[in-house]
Amino acid sequence: MLAGPMNSFDQAVSVVYDALSAIRTNASGPLPRADRAALERLASAPEAAGAPAPAPEAKLPSRSQPEPQPAPIPVRADASAKPAAPEPAAEPSQSQAERLEALRQRFAECGKCPNLAGTRTHVVFGVGNPEARLMFVGEAPGADEDREGEPFVGRAGQLLTKIIQAMGYERSDVYIANVLKCRPDMPPGETGNRKPRPDEMATCLPYLIEQIEIIRPRCLVALGATAMEGLLGEPAVMRQVRGRWHKFRDIPLMATYHPAYLLRNQSMAEKRKVWEDMLLVLEKLGDPISAKQRGYFLPKSQ
Ligand code: SF4
Repeated sequence: MLAGPMNSFDQAVSVVYDALSAIRTNASGPLPRADRAALERLASAPEAAGAPAPAPEAKLPSRSQPEPQPAPIPVRADASAKPAAPEPAAEPSQSQAERLEALRQRFAECGKCPNLAGTRTHVVFGVGNPEARLMFVGEAPGADEDREGEPFVGRAGQLLTKIIQAMGYERSDVYIANVLKCRPDMPPGETGNRKPRPDEMATCLPYLIEQIEIIRPRCLVALGATAMEGLLGEPAVMRQVRGRWHKFRDIPLMATYHPAYLLRNQSMAEKRKVWEDMLLVLEKLGDPISAKQRGYFLPKSQ
């Protein structure tokens, strides 16, 4: 995980880290859980969910500071599961794209969730700019994403692309991933998509954390209450958590409604809420906001 040659301190920490990792790998019991010209056509609706305040924030080093050794990432133990391949040491010369590709390959055959590994078509890794300043995080792949192997490619994904474009970016400028990399399995005979369970998201979260640590975005956006729950480990009520900043491993985190919610709820008021959240993101990134952008979805009289 280190980007440069290790000094003696790094080596010492690495030895301790490896020893702890070995102890954890050998543990038999379960381990603790860590851590958008066309906007007028934006579709719209908030999600339900219920609950308390966000979990305490973990820390991620800033780009300008020396990187301390990351805390061991808790992985849910499952004796019957096929583990992902061991993490190789990153070469100092490896680009973020190369490190992401290595991570993708390492988890390509992941079987930590036998029920999901047995029914998925693809492990839906993520898509976008490996050096993105802005990263969107959804909850899990749906049927379209499982078939295509790419997150947010269905109707909700098309709406997300419009939101991104309304912000002044292209889809390829940002990075898009889900907390859960495999489509939640459905009961026999049933179609559609189901919400991922907290334990499923907790099992896959270390995978997302590694993506975030490689990309190091300046802002994260959680799309929907379930994604927020997957990141922070506690249930979230969207109307309570959206519109203000949270943190995930020291990275500013904004929560907003999932695009699928906007597809179900076409009201201008709900569209405006999402857009206000995106204006906050633009401000946080220090990117210019036009008067036209500020006025999206406001009543004509304002
Ligand atoms: S959901 Fe994540 S942890 Fe579970 S099998 Fe898929 S890649 Fe592995």
